[in-house]
Amino acid sequence: MNILVTGGAGYIGSHTVLALMERGHHVVVLDNFSNSSPKVMPRLEALAGNPIPLCQVDLRDGDTVFDVLVSHKIDAVIHFAALKAVGESCEQPLQYFDNNVSGTISLLLAMQKANVLRFVFSSSAMVYGDTEHETLSENTPRSANNPYGRTKLMIEEIIQDHCAADTNFKAAILRYFNPVGAHPSGMIGEDPRGTPNNLMPYLCQVASGKREKLSVFGNDYPTPDGTGLRDYLHVMDLARAHADALDYLQSQSKNLTVNLGTGSASSVLDMIHAFEQANKLKIPHEIIGRRPGDVTRLCADPGLAKELLSWESRHDLLQMCADAWRWQSKNPEGYNS
Ligand code: NAD
Ligand code: UDP
Repeated sequence: MNILVTGGAGYIGSHTVLALMERGHHVVVLDNFSNSSPKVMPRLEALAGNPIPLCQVDLRDGDTVFDVLVSHKIDAVIHFAALKAVGESCEQPLQYFDNNVSGTISLLLAMQKANVLRFVFSSSAMVYGDTEHETLSENTPRSANNPYGRTKLMIEEIIQDHCAADTNFKAAILRYFNPVGAHPSGMIGEDPRGTPNNLMPYLCQVASGKREKLSVFGNDYPTPDGTGLRDYLHVMDLARAHADALDYLQSQSKNLTVNLGTGSASSVLDMIHAFEQANKLKIPHEIIGRRPGDVTRLCADPGLAKELLSWESRHDLLQMCADAWRWQSKNPEGYNS
């Protein structure tokens, strides 16, 4: 298939481009580089052994998106492009609704006009909000507690309404838990701008000496060691799930909503210990207060992804930590190294 990957220069998108090409698909990347670097492209081409067409376009420019869909004879779209920082979304909610929600509507309208009928969407565990559930299945009630999460909830509903109105259009909604790690080559990985918000990139920058110590946000949660629990999964496993979801849309011609996680929860202290063990390093850290807006626990029930897609996570925490560190140590300044 000819596949357009929006946000294909970003962290998860870039890994997915390779997973799709490994399955024989032709991939076109669309990105406005608002949170990524064009320097990822030659590295992707070297890893794939083939050129990858790149369109520097903003999603909200619907006419140009339509031209891209038609000129590249696109059969399916995998839609990663979004803003994703929770804190920033509280400060700039309108920018988030404009970029994420309006951007998706613009893309869906262009797809409708170009008669492109297969769609895979990056949703998030954030749509479950602050929940008491031990593990989250796809029918756990949803309620986001920040503007970023609400953009994902709204987009899910827009997609569902569109699928109901056009039964030829088939969509997969993938709810990711916490992707970490990097391609085993160490050539592509997560390259956050400025101070990292997320645990793994921060851990990596402490390990490299770029940051003095890791702040652990709270040890008074109702969890075994008091720190927050998350379901971390390897980005290579997550990338593969997109190719599986696309196969499902093609073979079953049915819509799909699935969680993508490992089904096991790790605390912040578990992650520090795994990183130290995998990479034979010490991570200086101190416990500070809770981060506003944080939830205690988010852990997937990944049973449906296994049942419908035969998808399961294949990497453990030690591999996630080793691969994250290989990328960081080979590229201390990310794509500017
Ligand atoms: P990322 O920021 O690395 O990648 C997103 C890409 O989209 C960037 O390259 C950015 O330049 C591009 N982009 C943003 N707005 C655009 C626009 N209007 N037009 C064109 N390009 C645009 O983020 P990521 O971590 O790879 O996340 C990919 C997707 O997965 C996002 O939708 C995110 O919300 C979702 N997600 C991520 C996580 C995570 O922890 N990384 C968890 C759950 C869901
Ligand atoms: N966390 C932390 N220190 C950091 C970054 C994150 O203690 O510098 C904790 C955070 O409180 C949460 C877990 O690590 O319990 C995962 O946070 P991340 O931001 O990576 O993911 P999210 O909260 O979005 O699921």
